[in-house]
Amino acid sequence: MPILYDMHMHSSFSTDSDAPMQIMAQTAHHLGLSGICLTDHMDLDYPRQYHPSDPNAFAADPEQVYQEVLRLRADYEERNLPLWIGFGLEFGMQAHLSDRFREIAERYPLDFIIASQHLLDSQDPYYPDAWENQKPEEMIDRYYRELLSNLKKMREWDTLAHLDYIIRYIPGQGDSVYDSMARHSEIIDEILRYVISCGKCLEVNTAGYKYGFLQPHPALAILRRYYALGGRLLTIGADAHRPEHIAFAFDRTEAALRSVGFTGYCIFEGRRMREIPF
Ligand SMILES: [Zn+2]
Ligand SMILES: [Zn+2]
Repeated sequence: MPILYDMHMHSSFSTDSDAPMQIMAQTAHHLGLSGICLTDHMDLDYPRQYHPSDPNAFAADPEQVYQEVLRLRADYEERNLPLWIGFGLEFGMQAHLSDRFREIAERYPLDFIIASQHLLDSQDPYYPDAWENQKPEEMIDRYYRELLSNLKKMREWDTLAHLDYIIRYIPGQGDSVYDSMARHSEIIDEILRYVISCGKCLEVNTAGYKYGFLQPHPALAILRRYYALGGRLLTIGADAHRPEHIAFAFDRTEAALRSVGFTGYCIFEGRRMREIPF
């Protein structure tokens, strides 16, 4: 079976997306997907310098997101359209936020929580100035260490998103793909072992293909290592911020995952994991 659930996507509730949730759902339905999970950004305390006029940049209001999901679900039910619509959030980890994330997870009937490391040293590596006067290899090492330290503080999460996300933004890397597994194997092993020990999932984020890496995030070398360490639980998401990127490169992703040995993936409903074979 092809991959029929896209478990990571954004809508206009995220600062970096203009796509109405309704259009995301409609597109997924037209693509023949069985389900989607809306996972708008919840990057609380996102550094003010990047969006000085918007104090809530990248922090969606969970109540508004939830109400829109409920409206959509009612609409699909009324029209008898078979699309499962999940209510998720993407928590942008920072050391001081775990209690606030826990409150949100307790207050709202979330289906799915993604844990993401987007920042480093209170800067967003998406912006080239974050890399100024830094040695990329050292910065990437700090990124993985901070990710693990923050993940250990998180109480509420279901999957670890785009583990090697930072390599997307290394300035001037051209076509060569930075090999995290070769250069940071010790800390990556620690992260993978921690995810496995928690019984939680590692995300395969297919946006990597979109960025020209011809690989998902994390890279296949990391996915192979996860498998070798005993990791079997994956979630899959295209991290679409626009409708045309929903389920992006899912065919290639399935083939790549099968070649590693994986036999399926997981979805979450009401924070409960369900395994789905390929
Ligand atoms: Zn993310
Ligand atoms: Zn995302």
